[in-house]
Amino acid sequence: MKKQALKEIKKAIKKAKTAIIAAHVDPDADAIGSSLAMAMLLKKLKVKPVIYSRDGIPKVYQFLPWAEKVLNKVPAKLHFDLAIVLDSSVLKRVGDKVDLKKMAKKIINIDHHPDNKKFGDINFVGQVSSAAEQIFKLAKYLKVKIDRDMAENLYVAVITDTGNFRYENTRTATFKMAAELFQTGIDPHDITTRIYDNKSLASVKLSALAMDKLEFADDKKVAWTSVTEEMMQKVEAKGEDLIGLVDQIRAISGVEVAILFREDKGKVKVNFRAKSDINVSAIANRLGGGGHHKAAGVIMEGSLLSVREKVLAETLKYLV
Ligand code: 5GP
Ligand code: MN
Repeated sequence: MKKQALKEIKKAIKKAKTAIIAAHVDPDADAIGSSLAMAMLLKKLKVKPVIYSRDGIPKVYQFLPWAEKVLNKVPAKLHFDLAIVLDSSVLKRVGDKVDLKKMAKKIINIDHHPDNKKFGDINFVGQVSSAAEQIFKLAKYLKVKIDRDMAENLYVAVITDTGNFRYENTRTATFKMAAELFQTGIDPHDITTRIYDNKSLASVKLSALAMDKLEFADDKKVAWTSVTEEMMQKVEAKGEDLIGLVDQIRAISGVEVAILFREDKGKVKVNFRAKSDINVSAIANRLGGGGHHKAAGVIMEGSLLSVREKVLAETLKYLV
């Protein structure tokens, strides 16, 4: 079945001259790293790639090779032979500024979310650590040599999606892939310093404000905090300054579910993290979002207060 998808992708790439690669909105390092690596792979196979990310690239990932090629706008009139969507369980995760069904002859969906809706003409979806691991497999199948730049993109994607090989999506194949990427000459220490020891002051100040407002329920098994637009302005923070905040809440001893609410242009972004048994993707799904068992999210209409009420009511049903 998966082999079939690889076969079909090979055929499609062979026929194609152009492709648009799309990451999801609020892109994380897996969306970005796998998109950049995919672009490099296509170029090696003589397909001209355009890389699209509605929300650009967070500053912390701008050091990645080819990051400067990413566009946050593409004219709707453009046409491509292929659209390749990465790290997205539903097509609408790429945002509503592009209509890929109109812009491309064929959609290739490359992902690793258990709730992936198989929206592509070709779906290469597997239970692996990251979208990057799928690109790695694809490169092997197509016999494309993974060079240092490609490896750096894939490595950043895999370490961030596995929490530095901590989550249970880390398997033998994940470590083997990391070892192979390492052999291309990448410098993991330099990479992790750029990612983890490079926080903006705004993000640290925002974290202090947010942690000061932590709330708890159900014997402190559920913990949440809210970030208002006012708080963001106070410390001059951007959306990307929230990266890692919800993980900090999960790290608290005894917390089973961590939730971050963020006011954003009349909507509320909700990020969930689970520690052990609770499947937050099921909670997010019920609210209209999705994700992984232990990391999920949803964007909801309404005020911070009303969204919080709905989300907490739904969450508490899952804690018995
Ligand atoms: P994060 O909290 O890091 O933004 O997202 C964790 C995971 O939750 C992502 O891998 C993604 O699968 C999922 N996720 C986050 N936000 C949304 C959303 O608005 N809609 C859907 N469907 N999934 C989301
Ligand atoms: Mn991912």
